[in-house]
Amino acid sequence: MIELDIRTLSLVAVLVTLLMACAMLLLWRLNPEERSARSWAIGNAAIAIGFLCIGFRGILPLFISVPVANTSIVLGYGLLLVGVWEFLGQSKRWWIVVSATAFVFFSFLYFTYLSPDIPSRIVIVSLVIAALSGVSAQCLLKDRTPRMRKIQALTAAVFGLHALYLSLRSILTLAGVHIQDLFASNWVQGLAFLDVIVSAICLTFAFTSMINRRLQFHLNHLASYDLLTEVFNRRAFEQAAVREMSRCARHKTMLSVLLLDIDHFKRINDRYGHSVGDQVLKSTATAIVGALRKEDVLGRIGGEEFCMLLPESDQESAIDISERVRMAVCTNTITHEGQTISITVSIGVATIQPDDTSWISLFQIADQALYRAKAGGRNLIAI
Ligand code: GH3
Ligand code: MG
Ligand code: MG
Repeated sequence: MIELDIRTLSLVAVLVTLLMACAMLLLWRLNPEERSARSWAIGNAAIAIGFLCIGFRGILPLFISVPVANTSIVLGYGLLLVGVWEFLGQSKRWWIVVSATAFVFFSFLYFTYLSPDIPSRIVIVSLVIAALSGVSAQCLLKDRTPRMRKIQALTAAVFGLHALYLSLRSILTLAGVHIQDLFASNWVQGLAFLDVIVSAICLTFAFTSMINRRLQFHLNHLASYDLLTEVFNRRAFEQAAVREMSRCARHKTMLSVLLLDIDHFKRINDRYGHSVGDQVLKSTATAIVGALRKEDVLGRIGGEEFCMLLPESDQESAIDISERVRMAVCTNTITHEGQTISITVSIGVATIQPDDTSWISLFQIADQALYRAKAGGRNLIAI
């Protein structure tokens, strides 16, 4: 049978949780707006302090090494839960953390001084931490966007296994696996410290992965979307266009492109100011999205120029859609200080030819058509 030295294990638990606190602190310093990392850092530090006090039992006063130590550990797990709420953007229910911490503190005072009872203390602290970890797991499983689903499920699994082990520990303790001397070698106690060490490492990996994944999506979004209008930027739109062209070539389907330019947009900026011009661009993008089909792709490719990919659309249906877009924009009312700002757009239409495989040449055809719409007097569609 492997001998697990409890004092050594508690020292390792202190070192591991402190290192995990440092890792989380570093993550928070690198991403200051990610408040959850700060709570996870403080939570791990509170757990480390608790285990440090336990490790010095017999050296430190009983009050510090029993009630304070265990309260600190419970507070630590409470702060991990606070971090989960912060990560998910949920309101923080501090009353759960405060009542769990206060309950452990007062019941530990009772079972240390008034009616000394180690098994009762073990059951109480295990069940409270199991409950806090269970709530963390449940929140992570309930509030999941599709892109975060797997990574949050992984973190929830770590919390869940931790809660499961602590519940089992309570049952074993109630069933009579008594521990009268905490530092006597005992496999239930040994496993409890191993559980803390393993779960602290796994949780830190899981938290770091969750933060990284969200950051990765955020950066991808910044790299692909126009900040003002929230539609594809030029880079992402051109990538989509090249993909769509090769799909058309493979499946021998049609593809049309609309190039749209707001008429006399400079006058709006000159008359109402740049910020109103920005509002007009946003509102126009929303109006265009409303007139397109679900499969169509919209991008802002220049200041007041938008481009659209219309998959499976021949010239006739592309003209219908462009007329719908033109009407949607010119009937879209934008008001500023009681005045209605009217917008018109010119649209150039191009449809893929059977032997056409180049995005640049298709775009040039749309650009020439747009030029004709402008030359024809604006507020027009040209092919
Ligand atoms: P036309 O009918 O010939 O297209 O005339 P126009 O005034 O729309 O075209 P022009 O190219 O002369 O002016 C485009 C203006 O769009 C000039 C530029 O200041 C403005 N613009 C470009 N990007 C932005 C932006 O992000 N916000 C605002 N408010 N204005 C922008
Ligand atoms: Mg322009
Ligand atoms: Mg213009």
